Amino acid sequence: QDRPLDSAHGLWTDPMSEKTIFQRIIDGEEDADILHEDDRCVAFRDINPEAPTHILIVPRKPIPSLDDLDTEDKDLVGHLFVVARELAQEEGLRDGYRTVINCGDDGGQSVWHLHLHLLGGRRMSWPPG
Ligand code: C5P
Repeated sequence: QDRPLDSAHGLWTDPMSEKTIFQRIIDGEEDADILHEDDRCVAFRDINPEAPTHILIVPRKPIPSLDDLDTEDKDLVGHLFVVARELAQEEGLRDGYRTVINCGDDGGQSVWHLHLHLLGGRRMSWPPG
């Protein structure tokens, strides 16, 4: 079931669990519309889509944010982008799409488990808000 947005903190939290919502999805404890799974990542539709296609690509490794990335994670991050490209093709996003990683409070991050957003199906504006 859906967890509420904790409006006081702007965070998606489960007060009964130490795990992030994405860790619970990865562990099969929370439902999600999963589109792709492999040994390194899971991809599912964002519960609150900001575009006709809005998919999150999440590494199984619980890296809290881009700021916590190690050099040894560089192949993993590359893999997330390859999966994003494959999903964009599956979604028929022939006119383009956007990938985003929000990092930290100023970057607008609300779930502290690294994730790549794939957004498409409408024309994006720039700069982001
Ligand atoms: O980059 P940021 O951390 O803000 O992105 C978190 C994303 O996770 C949001 O787009 C939110 O809609 C999504 N989310 C979700 N399923 C949940 C909780 C949050 O898809 N259960």
